[in-house]
Amino acid sequence: MQDFVYQSAPMRVVFGAGTLRQLPDELSRIGVSRAVVLATPRQNDLVADIREMIGERFAGVFTGAVMHTPVEVTERAMETVREVQADGIVAIGGGSTTGLGKAIALRTDLPQIVLPTSYAGSEMTPVVGQTSGGIKTTQSSPKILPEIVIYDVDLTMTMPAKLSATSGINAIAHAVEALYARDRNPIISLMAQEGIGTLARTLPKICAEPGDKAARTDALYGAWFCGVCLGAVGMALHHKLCHTLGGLFNLPHAETHTVILPHALAYNAPGAPEAMTRIATALGVPDPALGLQDLARKLVAPLSLREIGMPESGIDQAADLAVTNPYWNPRPIEREAIGALIARAWRGDPPQTAS
Ligand code: NAD
Repeated sequence: MQDFVYQSAPMRVVFGAGTLRQLPDELSRIGVSRAVVLATPRQNDLVADIREMIGERFAGVFTGAVMHTPVEVTERAMETVREVQADGIVAIGGGSTTGLGKAIALRTDLPQIVLPTSYAGSEMTPVVGQTSGGIKTTQSSPKILPEIVIYDVDLTMTMPAKLSATSGINAIAHAVEALYARDRNPIISLMAQEGIGTLARTLPKICAEPGDKAARTDALYGAWFCGVCLGAVGMALHHKLCHTLGGLFNLPHAETHTVILPHALAYNAPGAPEAMTRIATALGVPDPALGLQDLARKLVAPLSLREIGMPESGIDQAADLAVTNPYWNPRPIEREAIGALIARAWRGDPPQTAS
């Protein structure tokens, strides 16, 4: 075992079914009396529930959250925050809504309560990725980390099978990279293995029966663990590729993770033998890269960048950008091999493990 540093995040987590009802008490706990509520347009009905629940502490609402946290959207939301003189943020939704809350917290240091409705895991990290002019850059600050996260399984029951599949694999990706992170530690590695195993077991059940509450509960627990991994240790090639592709071609976030993960893992396999063994054990398969692509296939999730809207002509540009300022990676980043990886992912070929 290598030497390590472990630091746990100063955050309160409420987990269960029907826990949305605890929102008024949680607002009192952190002294919020004028909350701005954030959501996406599709989740407007949840905003109405919250309005009824928190009464006069509902100061205002912004339902314009979108993928990749564009700075123009954050600036519009900031106008609402100022107008209503908010003293706290309630973000209800997937990673896009959480990202908007974090971008506002970065600018204002307002306290946040996040109610996640997908498996993206952003609520567990002090990181926000913001997009400006087609380039997504990440920033980290203690101001960004939400004070309270309320996991309510009921909020995830409406997630369609397709989103559950890709969002769940997005979560698995966080745990996979945590297992070979330069700053990995035994506690996070345990959480990563548990998170991967739990999601790999439950996602097929959810896709077969989206109303399976026991499976939904386990999946949310697994997604929480994977989010903790992302917040605790560094990211590597997989996340760099997804940030690059998402920013360049405005690709859907969770789908991009789903397509890239088997290929990034295959690339890194020679530099991360211990992580490969742990992922194989968690998945119950001999080859984790192939196993993850098989899982995506079983969940009827996308397998190629082509089918999620990336132009073939963008492969070289993406490879050039992905090797610029790379994140630390267990295997050296080689331009030619990265180009080949993206080309394989574009076509939806099987992942190719280097020897
Ligand atoms: P999302 O938040 O954009 O949600 C996708 C769509 O699904 C939206 O229309 C949303 O309204 C809908 N949706 C969400 N939950 C639902 C539910 N329970 N029922 C029905 N519909 C639902 O997508 P996402 O994949 O959750 O998040 C992606 C974003 O999160 C990206 O911008 C990504 O960069 C960011 N992210 C950031 C971090 C971080 O640590 N900074 C980590 C993970 C993801």
